[in-house]
This record gives sequence, structure tokens and C-alpha cells, in this order.
Amino acid sequence: MKKHNFSAGPCILPQEVFKEASQAILDYNDSGLSVIEISHRSKDFVDIMEEARSLALELLGLEGKGYKALFLQGGASTQFLMTAYNLLQTKAGYINTGSWSDKAVKEAKLFGEVLEIASSKDANYNYIPKGYEVPGDLDYIHCTSNNTIFGTQIKDFPTSNIPLVCDMSSDIFSRQLDFSKFSLIYAGAQKNMGPAGTTLVVVKEDILGKINRQIPSMLDYQVHISKGSMFNTPPVFAVYTSMLTLRWLKNLGGIAAMEELNEKKAKLIYSEIDVNPLFKGFAAKEDRSNMNATFTLINENLKETFDTMCKEGGINGVNGHRSVGGYRASMYNAMTIESVAALVDIMGDLERKA
Ligand code: PMP
Repeated sequence: MKKHNFSAGPCILPQEVFKEASQAILDYNDSGLSVIEISHRSKDFVDIMEEARSLALELLGLEGKGYKALFLQGGASTQFLMTAYNLLQTKAGYINTGSWSDKAVKEAKLFGEVLEIASSKDANYNYIPKGYEVPGDLDYIHCTSNNTIFGTQIKDFPTSNIPLVCDMSSDIFSRQLDFSKFSLIYAGAQKNMGPAGTTLVVVKEDILGKINRQIPSMLDYQVHISKGSMFNTPPVFAVYTSMLTLRWLKNLGGIAAMEELNEKKAKLIYSEIDVNPLFKGFAAKEDRSNMNATFTLINENLKETFDTMCKEGGINGVNGHRSVGGYRASMYNAMTIESVAALVDIMGDLERKA
């Protein structure tokens, strides 16, 4: 039986993508060759890379606006340092909304002055800071749009003339935003885009080339741009499968259609969390994430019963991160509303049983 997969990442991807990707592993387009055994310089693979790059820009509404899309390696964690390496000349401002932001701060400090312009660390990151001031002398502002571990999501991004850099690893392609407000967006593939192994970087070219330091080639966005995201051997399978997921998303109606579904899924689970007296949400209500719902059992004694019911109901991956505890239901793009309903039914059954 296929499980209802609530894993935080790597996570659920569309079934049709799994099918097409597995077929391509055996025989890509009736070529007699696997997609992972052909040269990355072959026309077949160059076409895949180009389609992936252009679909990413198209879906984000950034075509023809001076942006380039890159599929890099090293995870979002490498972007913590690569953004600073390429953009931090003197001082940068960071909005610290979770462990991943905190790690980005740590890396950026290796390259210049880092100002935490806002933080919710004081309350174990259960809310998104608001009403903070943005100094005018920053090279860029860095934020994390969705906090995977804590289940909070930024609804209002800082507005200023300073370039905005955003880690969108866990909510890219899930909701409509004016993406042209961001100068650089990065996202590890392994949530809404594909298998682990590649990281999408969407960068506005005019923010590059403004710092004095020398940048090693592999960490230089301009080098990757000049080589069409093929400076070295790209992670061919991760890029191919990401491209299939982006095609799937486009065929479904793009981000607008996805957002509608994601809102329905989120509403379903948060209504249950709020109405069911056995559960309590972790994140501040106004900052709740549509991707990761975090909640706890009020009576820990029910944990074993609930865990068993989840297991029997085919629910996978709902354990919370160790820094929050409780439960986390990750509902990425590929998750159906039926899977969320299956979890909600079990939560309701627990109440009736208890
Ligand atoms: N940022 C966010 C928001 C994340 O959820 C994660 C974890 N997937 C990371 C960064 C780190 O990503 P990676 O493991 O690809 O380095």
C-alpha cells in the first residue's frame, strides 16, 4: 500500500514523476540508454538542463526580467556561504526565523559584518518577527520564507531598496509571490522540486560583480551563469527529475493552481488542530506555514496510541523535529488533499477514542 507521506524532505513527489523518472533510468526516450549514462554534454541532456532552467523562470514569472536560473550542488547549506561570498562586501542584514536562518548567519559571518535585524529565537522560533527596522547601509537582506522545522512562514517580506536574498527551500513553487522583489532565491530541490542532489538558484544578474574579493570558480555565480549551469558535471538525475516535476506543475496550472490546493490542505489540518482538544498548534496562528504544520499532543500519554493509529493508517513521517517535539505534517505540492484528510480522520478518531 502506498503510504501517506508527510516527510519533511526528502519527501513526496508526484507519482507520475516517479514513473517517468524510473522509466528514463532504464531507457531514456527509446534511445537504448539510461538518462544517467549519457554525457551531460549530449544534446539530450543539454535540452533537459535548458528546459529545467527555463521552466523555473517561467513558473516564477521571471522570464525576461534579468534573472538566471542555475542548478547547483552542495545543498541549500552551500548557498548559506555562497550568497555571502558573492554579495557581502561590508555588512548584511539577516532575519533569523529558525535553525536554517541561524546557520546562514553563521556562514555569512565568515565574510563580513552580519546584523541580525530581527529574530524569534527568544521563543524557540514559534513566530515571525514584525515591525523591525531595516538599516539603509546593507549589501543585502537575507530571509527564510518558510521555516521547515518550526512550521512558520513569512507572509510579508521586508520592503526596501536593498537586494533581498531568500532561502525558499521548503516553500518554493507553493504560493504566488511577486518573485521580482527578490534579487536572489535559492532552494534545495528535495521538497517541492525533485530528489536531493541539486539546488535551484535564481539570481538577478545585476547584483553580481560588486565585491572586491576573489571567488573560487565553483562558488562564483558568474562562472556558473557563463557556463549555462554546466561548469562541471551537473547532478543529471536530480536535474532531470526536477524538470519533470516542473513540467507536472506547469501542466496543473502553475503556482496559482498549486496555491489554491495548498491553502485547502492547510485549512483542513489547522481546523482539526484548533477544534480537537487533544492537540495544540506550535506556531503563532498568523504565521502558520502552509507547508509544515507543527503540533503537539496535550496529553503525552496518548502518544503511543496515536502513533499506532498513524502507523496502521499508512501515515508516514509525522514525527516532529527534535527541537520542537510533537508532530509535523509536511504537505508539499505533491501531497493530495485525500492524504491530509486521512491524517485528520485519525486525529478525530483519537478524540472519539480518548
Ligand atoms: N533551508 C531550509 C529552509 C531547509 O528546510 C533546509 C533543509 N532541507 C536547508 C536550508 C538545508 O538544506 P540542504 O540539506 O539541502 O543543505
